[in-house]
Amino acid sequence: MAIRQSENLTMNLQQNISLKPYNTFGINSRAKYFSTFSSIEDLKEILDSQSPLRNSQLILGGGSNILLTKDFDGIVLKNELKGIEIVKEDAGHIYIKAGAGENWHQFVLYCVNNNYAGVENLSLIPGNVGASPMQNIGAYGVEIKDVFYELEAFHREEKNIEKFSLQDCQFGYRESVFKSKFKNQFVITSVTYRLNKQPSFNTSYGAINQELERMGAKELSIRAISQAVINIRSSKLPDPKQIGNAGSFFKNPIITNDQFDQLKKQFPSIVAFPSGSDHTKLAAGWLIEQCGWKGYRKGDAGCYPKQALVLVNYGNANGSEIFQLSEEIIQSVQKKFTVSLEREVNII
Ligand SMILES: Cc1cc2nc3c(=O)[nH]c(=O)nc-3n(C[C@H](O)[C@H](O)[C@H](O)COP(=O)(O)OP(=O)(O)OC[C@H]3O[C@@H](n4cnc5c(N)ncnc54)[C@H](O)[C@@H]3O)c2cc1C
Repeated sequence: MAIRQSENLTMNLQQNISLKPYNTFGINSRAKYFSTFSSIEDLKEILDSQSPLRNSQLILGGGSNILLTKDFDGIVLKNELKGIEIVKEDAGHIYIKAGAGENWHQFVLYCVNNNYAGVENLSLIPGNVGASPMQNIGAYGVEIKDVFYELEAFHREEKNIEKFSLQDCQFGYRESVFKSKFKNQFVITSVTYRLNKQPSFNTSYGAINQELERMGAKELSIRAISQAVINIRSSKLPDPKQIGNAGSFFKNPIITNDQFDQLKKQFPSIVAFPSGSDHTKLAAGWLIEQCGWKGYRKGDAGCYPKQALVLVNYGNANGSEIFQLSEEIIQSVQKKFTVSLEREVNII
């Protein structure tokens, strides 16, 4: 329905709609206004308007990393900026620019099918290209920062497009400048990745090697690794179409090696990995499991029986119930291990 919102603004605006189809947790919060945008002009038109829409906006990709805890009293803007193009090439690399509204996994498959290496370990992560730099998505030993070249983002106040290099983004573990210093200031419109012509396979993480063997993969290839990752993820993680979830709800906490040595004395089987030379990354799933949460369910909110790091909505849980469960988990981990869990999912 095209309705006129103010003198200057005509756009496809829906009012008071359920966001259930737009978030993988399947939370039935409502948005006061909802619109898609498929060009920067659309976006400008919305942000230029003198209407109250300007003040409260939620930029939405695939909705796979958010928990809606209430109705949204503003406008939800669903990013549908499309397009994939090769923008340059050098001896070792292909530079590919993708619209922020492209589906991430489809982008990975495009790279796999064309033999461009670097993102195969990131197969089957839900969501869109535009959110991939937000938290520097990562899996199976690879992060976006490893293939990132630059991005373009629209400044919501200045109304111009700015470019961000790898350094500008300040990527960290599930972190970027867009989650901290520039939170809610930019709309990422495209991302350019630097893919490798010659693959350097990374199979050391998780069960990739085991899965490749099980598949009977005769030789290592980007396609085989992508398929192995798809198989492992499908067997371990709940499919949001069946059970609402947003993947890992918490980050793996990073503590100093001294703190870790103390914990290890008390809990010899604690699961951890080195993180640089001075720090250790703890497996949050193990900590949560030790506190007895794995498989816990209250109403329709629960802790996934196969992976304690994933909180789930079995049907009709609301965002506050999931949030409350996360709060109780944080408190119990703090009490047992004196370790602070931080949420990875964006709370809205
Ligand atoms: C089953 C499952 C498995 C997952 N596994 C992983 C994993 O292995 N590794 C991992 O890192 N993540 C994982 N995730 C989390 C999630 O898929 C990623 O974080 C993904 O990048 C989110 O993309 P999205 O488009 O759905 O973002 P959304 O949920 O739509 O948005 C996330 C945040 O980014 C903001 N945002 C989105 N797009 C833009 C934009 N263009 N400009 C500015 N802000 C924007 C939103 O406002 C919101 O704050 C998993 C999720 C699920 C459901």
